[in-house]
Amino acid sequence: MGEITLSTSEKQELIDVTYDIQKSICPVKEGICIVYCPHTTAAITINESADPDVKEDILTKLNDIIPDDPNYKHSEGNSDAHIKSSIIGCSETIMIKEGKLVLGTWQAIYFAEFDGPRKRKIFIKIIKD
Ligand code: ZN
Repeated sequence: MGEITLSTSEKQELIDVTYDIQKSICPVKEGICIVYCPHTTAAITINESADPDVKEDILTKLNDIIPDDPNYKHSEGNSDAHIKSSIIGCSETIMIKEGKLVLGTWQAIYFAEFDGPRKRKIFIKIIKD
């Protein structure tokens, strides 16, 4: 199993980890790649990489839907981050074909930070064909 460590720098941000994931699948030519985030206030998602405004729109809309609210019961004060993590999800499964992740032209794999800045991990499991 592979592992990536990253340090986030913002309270909330989407970090493109596609290159690091692609590097970690070498030399597997065909199979399945599972990207897993072992955190309760972060997530993994796949979305557009061409226009950085998409990342901003995703975070803006998530904050509209799930605002930071002092009325949450959780005493740590970060329930909005926990909810966002659950909605987006902690993993993605990507096919591997001819040694490359099967992603659309505009797709990238993002680590989603919702309660940073923090040091974070991503686990990568490859299942060969
Ligand atoms: Zn918490």
